[in-house]
Amino acid sequence: MDSSEITIVLESILNTPTAPFHEYHVLEVIERLLEPCSSARVQRDSFGNLIVIVGPEDKVPKWIFGAHMDHPGFVQLPNSNCGDFSNSKYRDEFVFLGGVPDAYLETNYPIKEFGRFAMWDLPSFEISNDEIRSRACDDLVGCSAIVSLIKHLEFSQNKESFGAVFTRSEEVGFVGATKLAEEWPFISDSCFVSIETSVPVGDSLMGKGPICRVGDRITIFDNHATESILLTGKKYGIPVQRALLDGGACEASAISAFGIKVAGISVPLGNYHNCSKGGEIDLEYVKLKDVVSLVDLLVALIKEFPDGPPNNSTSMFNKCRSRVDQMLPFIENTVGDFSQ
Ligand SMILES: [Zn+2]
Repeated sequence: MDSSEITIVLESILNTPTAPFHEYHVLEVIERLLEPCSSARVQRDSFGNLIVIVGPEDKVPKWIFGAHMDHPGFVQLPNSNCGDFSNSKYRDEFVFLGGVPDAYLETNYPIKEFGRFAMWDLPSFEISNDEIRSRACDDLVGCSAIVSLIKHLEFSQNKESFGAVFTRSEEVGFVGATKLAEEWPFISDSCFVSIETSVPVGDSLMGKGPICRVGDRITIFDNHATESILLTGKKYGIPVQRALLDGGACEASAISAFGIKVAGISVPLGNYHNCSKGGEIDLEYVKLKDVVSLVDLLVALIKEFPDGPPNNSTSMFNKCRSRVDQMLPFIENTVGDFSQ
C-alpha cells in the first residue's frame, strides 16, 4: 500500500489533541475521515466508542480491529471525589491520568491546554527518515492504521466484511473496551484484534514489521487467530514479528475476560508514554514502514481469512499428519520390539 495515503491519515489524526475521557476531537476526525466511505456503517455506542461495520450488508464481520483514541494526559478534576493521586500528578486544575512514573511527572515539563484537558507541549506530528514522531503515537497510530485500512478497501471495492472499533479511555484501565465488551455489538464468535503501539521486547525490533502479539502482561491470546495472522504475513511476503509483549497490557486482555476471542498486533514504539531513556518527557516515535506493513497485513488477513480465524489449526494438523506418514518405515521397523 502507498505510504502517502497512510501519511495523510496519520497527519490528520495525530494532529488532534486527546486525553483519557476527552476523546471527542479524535472521534469527530475519524467520523469525518470515514464519511466518504459508503461501505462503512459508522455509529457511536452508549459510551461514545465508535463502532464501524465495513463491507456488504449480507455478510457478518468476523474480524474486529480495535484501537483506542486516548493517550495519557492531564484532565480537569471532576467535582466529585475522584480518588487519591500522588502530589506529582497535579498541575493547576488538572490531574494526570495514565501510566507514567512520578519521576517523569516531576520534571514539570510544560503542558498545552485544550479546554478541559492538557497534553505535554510537544509537536503533534513530525516525519523524517521514515520516522513518525508525535506527542501521542499510542494509540493514534493504531486508529490511523484502521482508518487507512477502511479507506483503502473502500477504494479497492472490497467484497468482504469486517468490523472496527475506536474506544475511549484505555489508559485508565480499559474503560471503553469494558463498556464495549458488555454491549458486544458483533456476533459472539467474532475475533477482536487489538491494534496497538508497544515497546518491542525479546527479539522484536523497530523497523522489522508489525509484531503479532501472542499475549500481553496479563493473558495470552487465541492460538488460531495468532496463527492466521502469522500465516498471512508469510504467504503475502509481509514482514511480521512474533513476540509476547509483556511490557504492558492491551484491550485484548479486557475483552477476552468477557469470553470473546482475541488477538493482537502492535507497531513497535519508541519513548513509550513520552518517557525517554534519559528520564525526559519526549516525543513517541514509530517507523512509517512498520505502519504500512501493518495495513498491508490487515488487508491480506481479510482476504485470506474472510470468515475469521479457523476453529482448528489446519497447517499444524497437516504438518503433524505428514510427519507421521514420513516416519512410517521407522515405526514399522520397531513394531516387533513392542510386541508382548
Ligand atoms: Zn498507552
